[in-house]
Amino acid sequence: MSKFTTNWLASLFPDYQGVVLDPIQIDDVFTDSRQFTHFGLFIPIEGERFDGHEFLKDAIKHGAIATLWSKNKPVPRFVPTDFPLFFVEDTVEAMQKLATAYREKVKPKVIGITGSNGKTTTKDFVATVLNQKFKTWKTKGNFNNHIGLPLTILQMTPDTEVLILEMGMNHFGEIETLTKIAHPDIAMITNIGESHIEYLGSRAGIAQAKSEIVEGLKEDGLLLVDGDEPLLDSVAQQYKSYRIGTNPDNDYVIKNIQITNDDTTFEVEQKRFSIPVLGEHQAKNATFCIVTAKRLGLNVEQIESGLQQVELTGMRFEKIKTKEGTFLINDAYNASATSMKASINVIKEMDAERKILVLGDILELGEHSQAIHRSVADVIQPPIDTLYTYGEESKAIIEALNEKEEGRIKTLSFSSKEVLVKHLRSELNPNTIILFKGSRGMRLEEVINQLTK
Ligand code: ATP
Ligand code: MG
Repeated sequence: MSKFTTNWLASLFPDYQGVVLDPIQIDDVFTDSRQFTHFGLFIPIEGERFDGHEFLKDAIKHGAIATLWSKNKPVPRFVPTDFPLFFVEDTVEAMQKLATAYREKVKPKVIGITGSNGKTTTKDFVATVLNQKFKTWKTKGNFNNHIGLPLTILQMTPDTEVLILEMGMNHFGEIETLTKIAHPDIAMITNIGESHIEYLGSRAGIAQAKSEIVEGLKEDGLLLVDGDEPLLDSVAQQYKSYRIGTNPDNDYVIKNIQITNDDTTFEVEQKRFSIPVLGEHQAKNATFCIVTAKRLGLNVEQIESGLQQVELTGMRFEKIKTKEGTFLINDAYNASATSMKASINVIKEMDAERKILVLGDILELGEHSQAIHRSVADVIQPPIDTLYTYGEESKAIIEALNEKEEGRIKTLSFSSKEVLVKHLRSELNPNTIILFKGSRGMRLEEVINQLTK
C-alpha cells in the first residue's frame, strides 16, 4: 500500500536531485540497509559505530528507490542521476519531520504511553483491545526513542485508525520531543519509579520528565495517570485527566484484586474483569486500557474479549514449566526497584510450596544504588523462602534482608552464572516457583536457558 510519493516528499524537502516530480509511489520506510523492502525510502542514520550513508548501495540492492541524504556527505559516484536523493541538514531530524507530516496525513487517533514501568505491557493491552474495533498500529518491541518512535509512525499502514506509541527516555526533554511528533489524543503516565534517577536527580525529577508528555497533547486530549502517585497530582490538575489506581480517591478505582496462578481478576466501576497475566500492577495497566477503550467507544463485550487475548511481549513474567515440574518465571527483560517489588508481590500470591527469587543487579542507579537495592528487601518475607542474587550491587538486598528477617529466609549471592546454574539445578522440584528478575545488562535469561536445555 503506497504511503506517499516522491512529489509529496519534495514539498517537505525541497532540496533534491534525481527524477522526483514524475511521482514515484513509496510503500515503505527503512533505516537498516540489510532489510529487504519494496519501493522503500531509505533513511541513513549516523550512529556511534556505523554511518548509514556508507550502506546506500546495499539499501538500493534491497529495494530502496529513494533516500534522504545529509548535506554534509558526498553523493557516491554509483548513484544513478535519476535516483531521488533528498538533501537534509540532519537525517534524524528529517525523519522526525517526515513522521509528523505522515501522521498528519493518515490522521489516526494517537495514544501515547510513558512511565517508568509498564509502557510496553500497557501498549500491548491497549493494542489488543482496540483491535476489536479498529485497525491499529503499535510500537514493535521497545522502539520507543527519538529514532524508534518516528520509524514506528512511518511504518504504519495508511489505513491505520489508531496508533499506539510507547515513549521512553533517559533525560529531560526527550519525552517533549517524542510527544510533539506523536501529538496524542490520549496520553498516559503509567507510573513513576526510580529508573534513570542518575540523570534526573530524584523521583520528582522523573515525574517532571514524564509529565512532558502533555506538551504535545491535543487541545481536547485526555491525560491518564497513576493516581496512586502523589507526584503526578499537579500535572493531572492542569489538564483534562483521569486518575487511575487502587486508592479510593481516584477517578477510576480498582477494587478486589485477586491473583491465581493463571489470571488476575479485579473490579472497575462495579464490573469484574479478568486478565490472563498476573499482578496488581497488571490490573492497573489493564485499567488504563479499559478507560481508553471506553473513551473510544468500545462496548464491554469487546473490552472483555480483547483483555482475554492479551499476550505480553517476551520475557515479561513469562511462565516456563521445566521437565521436573518447576515453574520458572522469566521476568528478566529489565528491572527497576518498582518492577522488582511488583513481581515479588505477585510470586507471594501464587500457589506453590516453595518460592525462590533469583534477583540480578538493577543497573544505572549511580549513588542511589545501595539504598534502592536495600529497599527491595522490604517486600521479601515468607512465603518467599530463598533469595539468590547475582552481581555486585544486589548483594545489598541480602544485607538488608538479613538485618530484617534474621535468617528466616535462606540467602546466597553469586558472581558466576555457571555456579548459579549448578546450584539451581538442585532446586528444580515440583511445586516450586523460581522468579528471575534483573536489569537487561545482567542477562538472567541465560541462566534460564541453561536450566531448560
Ligand atoms: P522499558 O523502559 O524497559 O521499555 P516498560 O516501561 O516498557 O520498560 P514493561 O516492559 O511493560 O515496561 O514492563 C517491565 C517490567 O515492569 C515488567 O516485567 C513488570 O514486572 C513491571 N511492570 C509492568 N507494569 C508495571 C506497573 N504498572 N508498575 C510497576 N511495575 C510494572
Ligand atoms: Mg518498554
